[in-house]
Amino acid sequence: MSYYGRRVSRPTSSPGKTAAMEIQRQPVDNLSGIGPQTALKLQKLGVHCVQDLLFLLPHRYEDRTRVHPIGSLTAGMSALIVGTVELSDVLPKGRRSLICRIGDQTGFINLRFFHFSANQQAQLKPGTQVCCFGEIRHGYAGLEIIHPEYKIIHSRENVTEDSLTPIYPLTEGLRQNTLRKAVKQALHLCLPHLTDWLPAPILQRHKFPALAQALRTLHCPQPNLSSHDIQQSSSLKRLAFEEFLAHHLRMLQNKLRQKQWRAPVLQADEGYKKRFLASLPFRLTKAQRRVIGEIETDCANNHPMLRLVQGDVGSGKTVVAAYNALLALASDFQVAVMAPTELLAEQHLRNFSQWFAGFDCAPVFLTGQLKGKARQQTLESIADGSAKLVIGTHALFQESVHFAKLGLVVIDEQHRFGVHQRLALREKSQPTGLRPHQLIMTATPIPRTLAMLQYSDLDLSIIDELPPGRKPITTSVIPSERRDEVIARIRHWIEKKHQAYWVCTLIEESEALQCEAAEKTADYLRDALPDVRIALVHGRMKAADKDGVMQAFKRHESDLLVATTVIEVGVDVPNAGLMIIENPERLGLSQLHQLRGRIGRGDVESYCLLLYQSPLSESGRERLKVFRDNHDGFVIAEMDLKMRGMGEIMGTRQTGQVQFKIADLNRDKEQLERVQQAAELICKDHPEAIQPLIDRWLGDAGRYAEV
Ligand code: ADP
Ligand code: MG
Repeated sequence: MSYYGRRVSRPTSSPGKTAAMEIQRQPVDNLSGIGPQTALKLQKLGVHCVQDLLFLLPHRYEDRTRVHPIGSLTAGMSALIVGTVELSDVLPKGRRSLICRIGDQTGFINLRFFHFSANQQAQLKPGTQVCCFGEIRHGYAGLEIIHPEYKIIHSRENVTEDSLTPIYPLTEGLRQNTLRKAVKQALHLCLPHLTDWLPAPILQRHKFPALAQALRTLHCPQPNLSSHDIQQSSSLKRLAFEEFLAHHLRMLQNKLRQKQWRAPVLQADEGYKKRFLASLPFRLTKAQRRVIGEIETDCANNHPMLRLVQGDVGSGKTVVAAYNALLALASDFQVAVMAPTELLAEQHLRNFSQWFAGFDCAPVFLTGQLKGKARQQTLESIADGSAKLVIGTHALFQESVHFAKLGLVVIDEQHRFGVHQRLALREKSQPTGLRPHQLIMTATPIPRTLAMLQYSDLDLSIIDELPPGRKPITTSVIPSERRDEVIARIRHWIEKKHQAYWVCTLIEESEALQCEAAEKTADYLRDALPDVRIALVHGRMKAADKDGVMQAFKRHESDLLVATTVIEVGVDVPNAGLMIIENPERLGLSQLHQLRGRIGRGDVESYCLLLYQSPLSESGRERLKVFRDNHDGFVIAEMDLKMRGMGEIMGTRQTGQVQFKIADLNRDKEQLERVQQAAELICKDHPEAIQPLIDRWLGDAGRYAEV
């Protein structure tokens, strides 16, 4: 009993459910070896109670089950070795260090210590036998291990472990050994009473082991199990599955909670709607009408709509948002339209101003650029409700902005904003006590599996049709050595009174460098094409200047627009049907697709030339080929996902880094696919399992999730 806890009271008679729960919920510092200091450190890892330790899973294993002959070691591996100290010396050169050469019959290796005590030095004298473990690396004189774990031994017996050693995620000042001991105690105390919340049919269908067994396999692998075996084990699969499930359930739970809030009913009478549609210079596509129908149904309800509209570049999402705004305006509620960039916000301003010209509600514009008195006035008009239609960038959602009667929030190009920004929006409190409806638009297709983890709190509408009359775009892949040909082609194109884009990309995130590159390119092109009117637009220009350049390009006062990726979203110039993208290999396929979506909008044939830097890697070549041969954003996103792996996509999208304890989006894709069905079963037949599963896997993050 002494090992397994000083103060943990373990019920002696057959423990009932409540007693078992109590053990699991006890604070960790009730375990032996865990004081208040260590408990604080554990809190940083999300560990508060004894049960949390069970779900703190090893992120890898070390193999101390066998002793490696020193002669067989190679750099990069981590190994257990046994040898005799041959030399031991303090080297004053460079950084003072203690070097200990140890050897066996097969070879020798150096142990290097930068921090050591006189005692340690005396201990490691020639002739001493040591057993050590560490990562082998190249040193000055052959292989070495820096700061190995070691112990002095008298015989080679009992130096190995029976099974793999789990390595846990740590935080500053916490030691593996402390954690291992704590986890062992937690297992011993909790496993017999742990409730398995996965219903039997799910366990059977996927041949999953029971929870206790799965946890034991990961924390204390059986002898003979290799790291690889664990990766492949049904135990790990089960836990990864359960973790995905918990995340998915939390999103569903959020959705339910959101839906319980009250929202204004937004409706417009038929005459109003007809007048709006008649003022458009085109007829809505079938897909647009369908999505509008879905939005109308949502907004006629007094609970908030949470709808994601997904539609390829150019599919006409803006007018759908405008229609939604119409419903709010007709019901005397305010609308906020948020775009990720100034340029795009300005384009919305222009479109909305035109479309709502006959409706007596001139849009108000708010971005970070707006300063001083003008800003003050704008903020006041938003707060007193006289500004009905407010368009802007994220400046809209700063604390100083108060809406009098916000009925609808539209967020464009959702992928540019993090999940947290999206969630923060919902928090905007209002004097009315009502929550606004939300319409979120994205051109980035989200693979179904990812959507389950990140967007299952939203309802989905898809615009799967482009407006009629779009001409196909011919894409070619050209090495930068053939730049002269490309220039000749631009000259020829512009002689025919067409316009073109030249897009500069840079791998650096720095906007300054991007702009510099664009300026250089513009200079170069002015030399090469003296008769062509060349304009330049980049992210560091003032909003008004950018707008001026874009407007002039639209009016055909310039022929060739050199730009950074700022034109990715926004501009719409039908006469510009040629686009050159420099260094396309640096961009994700979806981003390339967005860029290419700027052309092919007029009635001329369009061309996209990908001017790559050779040599191109095999995978780079493959990716550009996929892009050249496909035009459907959904197909491109799926292919990108296959080629780059899910983890990377999620990372680069930066849609609120979901952190997993054990699941891995690439390795456990199959588990993720099983989650939806399981969630349905649980919601229907075992709703009591929802909260415990969320608590277990998401801890605080789940418990205090936004409401
Ligand atoms: P995205 O979905 O990429 O945001 P936009 O809303 O910017 O697309 O629309 C792209 C272009 O297509 C705009 O010029 C818009 O006015 C036009 N458009 C939208 N809907 C239609 C339609 N039904 N018929 C013709 N043109 C349309
Ligand atoms: Mg758009």
